[in-house]
Amino acid sequence: MGKLKGFMEYDRIKEAAIDPKERIQNYKEFTVAPDTEKLQEQGARCMDCGVPFCHSGCPLGNLIPDFNDAVYKGEWERALGILHATNNFPEFTGRLCPAPCEEACVLGIVNPPVSIELIEKYIVERGFTEGWIKPQLPAQRTGKKVAIIGSGPAGLAAAQQLNRAGHTVTVYERSNKIGGLLRYGIPDFKMEKNVIDRRLEILEAEGIQFECNVEVGTTLTATALEAEFDAVLLATGATIKRPLPIPGADLEGVVQAMDFLPHNNEVVDGQHERAAHYNAKDRNVIVIGGGDTGSDCIGTSNRHGARSVTNFEILPKPSEARTEDHPWPYWPFKLKTSSSHEEGSHREWSILTKEFVGDKNGKLVGLKTVEVKWKKVPGERPQLIEKPESLKEWPCELALLALGFTGPDKSLPEQFGLSFDERGNVKGEQEYQTNKPHVFAAGDARRGQSLIVWAISEGREAAHQIDRFLVGKSNLPQKNKAGDLATV
Ligand SMILES: Cc1cc2nc3c(=O)[nH]c(=O)nc-3n(C[C@H](O)[C@H](O)[C@H](O)COP(=O)(O)OP(=O)(O)OC[C@H]3O[C@@H](n4cnc5c(N)ncnc54)[C@H](O)[C@@H]3O)c2cc1C
Ligand code: SF4
Repeated sequence: MGKLKGFMEYDRIKEAAIDPKERIQNYKEFTVAPDTEKLQEQGARCMDCGVPFCHSGCPLGNLIPDFNDAVYKGEWERALGILHATNNFPEFTGRLCPAPCEEACVLGIVNPPVSIELIEKYIVERGFTEGWIKPQLPAQRTGKKVAIIGSGPAGLAAAQQLNRAGHTVTVYERSNKIGGLLRYGIPDFKMEKNVIDRRLEILEAEGIQFECNVEVGTTLTATALEAEFDAVLLATGATIKRPLPIPGADLEGVVQAMDFLPHNNEVVDGQHERAAHYNAKDRNVIVIGGGDTGSDCIGTSNRHGARSVTNFEILPKPSEARTEDHPWPYWPFKLKTSSSHEEGSHREWSILTKEFVGDKNGKLVGLKTVEVKWKKVPGERPQLIEKPESLKEWPCELALLALGFTGPDKSLPEQFGLSFDERGNVKGEQEYQTNKPHVFAAGDARRGQSLIVWAISEGREAAHQIDRFLVGKSNLPQKNKAGDLATV
């Protein structure tokens, strides 16, 4: 285990960060690496519990006490091996995971939990710096061919696993670059894109083929793909944006977050200039939706130089601490203040947007809201009750709709002849296998809008099932009951 009584000796640490005023001048990551000694002390805080609840908190089942112990002892290369045994891309989760493992950490019952995500990030960063992360080529090829549609974390994790099992893997991506929402969604200040590129170099050297600018279903038909490959994996994400069908929704200045953010990522990548209608500079910005996407819009708008940034959330303000409804070790629905919120934003809860207001040229100049309350009815969904007397108008020239996604685009699954579950996601009849035995689904396309850690987990699990389908058995690892606490 870590250091006996280390948890009594050392406090939890957070990653230091560049001052908000300074960091919003650019799109670079702004965290500051802790000293190695501080990371080892954090590893020493792990109590190596008899039942490590952090394992089941992590959707990947990461072997957390084992890598904590290796870090405490300064055995970083061993820690990297332990981490990679369950997680193909710790550099993504180490930066972006909401860390349900930490909410399930036993130390967290009485003290701040171990900084597991921080340790994870710096294990893998050290691995890249030291040159320990090398391509792992399969000993032999099976002669089986697998097509993966979509290059987000689910598709990439499945590709790496299947390639390691000896299958010949081609990843098809409709965008001009690989990475899914990691590339065109998540802003650079949360993860710079060279973090994806250096991992792609490894995947390419391992023999995975990538085909960008290929939209399966149009550029290449489902039938053509089925004829060429022994198995197909749909990892196409949940890309249908939730609309806000209220008066004025078609005004210039009402913009979907997932048009605004990818456009910005392309600008930061030097692909083109910023279009005027996606520019928040000197505008009063209102971000509708309080989740991760909303938070990314706040950080991006502040970097554009917005006059003001306000964030609306229809739900009530959550409690600052864990409530009885979500006891340890479950994921708590408590107030989350992201680094983007800290950079400057006004937040409103229990607020409903009723109408967008435009000028005579069809440009957005404001929006109207009412306050709401939620009535709990036993056995039913909570009821939304508007307070008409609270009607208020807000000045706003750019409204960003960050309302999430309704599910996957159905056209490609329909072309394959696949069925859907009751939520409209691609249905895995047998685990990740669809109603067509050689077609599988994973990630947001299968489970609906979710998280990177879940996408990697689904990609790995689907790879196991595809490998079994192709050769009758699989040595690719499968997780046990991990992730059953992580309802996040
Ligand atoms: C703005 C934003 C911020 C987020 N921040 C976080 C965060 O901080 N932490 C976190 O854990 N999660 C975050 N998420 C969620 C996370 O990004 C997703 O859950 C995850 O990327 C899903 O992975 P995936 O591989 O299933 O799909 P995606 O990443 O969506 O990738 C799907 C890929 O398939 C491609 N594709 C679709 N159809 C076709 C086709 N017909 N042919 C070829 N290619 C196709 C798409 O172009 C895309 O590249 C965020 C999401 C958004 C939108
Ligand atoms: S992937 Fe997420 S949940 Fe799993 S150990 Fe890392 S931070 Fe924790």
